[in-house]
Amino acid sequence: MAEAKHFKYVILGGGVAAGYAAREFAKQGLNPGELAIISKEAVAPYERPALSKGYLFPQGAARLPGFHVCVGSGGERLLPEWYSEKGIELILSTEIVKANLASKTLTSATGATFTYDILIIATGSTVVQLSDFGVQGADSNNIFYLREIDDADRLVAAIQAKKDGKAVIVGGGYIGLELGAALQINNLDVTMVYPEPWCMPRLFTAGIAAFYEGYYANKGIKIVKGTVAVGFDSDANGDVIAVRLKDGRVLEADIVVVGVGGRPLTSLFKGQVAEDKGGIKVRLNDLIICPC
Ligand SMILES: Cc1cc2nc3c(=O)[nH]c(=O)nc-3n(C[C@H](O)[C@H](O)[C@H](O)COP(=O)(O)OP(=O)(O)OC[C@H]3O[C@@H](n4cnc5c(N)ncnc54)[C@H](O)[C@@H]3O)c2cc1C
Repeated sequence: MAEAKHFKYVILGGGVAAGYAAREFAKQGLNPGELAIISKEAVAPYERPALSKGYLFPQGAARLPGFHVCVGSGGERLLPEWYSEKGIELILSTEIVKANLASKTLTSATGATFTYDILIIATGSTVVQLSDFGVQGADSNNIFYLREIDDADRLVAAIQAKKDGKAVIVGGGYIGLELGAALQINNLDVTMVYPEPWCMPRLFTAGIAAFYEGYYANKGIKIVKGTVAVGFDSDANGDVIAVRLKDGRVLEADIVVVGVGGRPLTSLFKGQVAEDKGGIKVRLNDLIICPC
């Protein structure tokens, strides 16, 4: 087995937090070779929120390198060259499958090992999938979740392939509302489905939600409330063709986008760190986590 690569600091995860943390490390003073970012994604840290907004515009869509961090906060855009100039190693397309906090060792899916003095856990979240609840047909083609740039690329390809088709959005939160709008401006015939009495119920009052639901309705988006998707039908190719609802209705669909929540990616650290409410328990000043 190849020798482990050692770094003083490792940021595990190459998302928004990783990019902003790298900028702060550089500001504080960093020697070349001290810091590595290890990321499952193939690209340098970028502003993830763009994926459900500018990335899906029918014209003039945002594309990398346009939205690498830290442009979201009006800061400098950190291109891959920035990391090499600062002596920060970007280790991309590398999924860590084992983390041993006692020996300060990370192991990748291909068996590469990395050791560190200090680890920053920045693995973010993953989407909750309908297949997690055993929803029948939830693995049909053209059912999308949106978390990473690869997901967005697959969705863009489907939008282009299913021009003027029917889209069903499952979920009435941020992702559901943003994707409903994005697919509508791409000329899809959009229906949104969610179980609550109004959209974004944890944030919006009934009055605020009524404003948005009215706005969406004026744009031609249909909203079905008070029920959930219980199954998906597909054709002989495995492509989704319909969403079956608990109240018995069936909605035709060429594309389905599901936005039913996320959960923190903590499984690598199970039993090694204190957990709370599904995440890793930290105190306000515990921005850097190490087992010592
Ligand atoms: C589509 C979308 C739109 C959003 N819009 C907004 C918005 O408008 N406003 C807002 O405030 N927030 C928004 N958010 C939320 C915001 O993007 C997150 O809060 C933010 O990305 C969290 O940053 P993070 O670095 O903790 O995690 P992430 O940005 O998710 O980064 C985690 C990184 O860790 C990597 N990773 C995970 N596990 C491993 C592993 N085992 N090995 C290697 N790498 C790993 C992932 O591939 C990813 O690169 C949105 C999120 C999404 C998905």
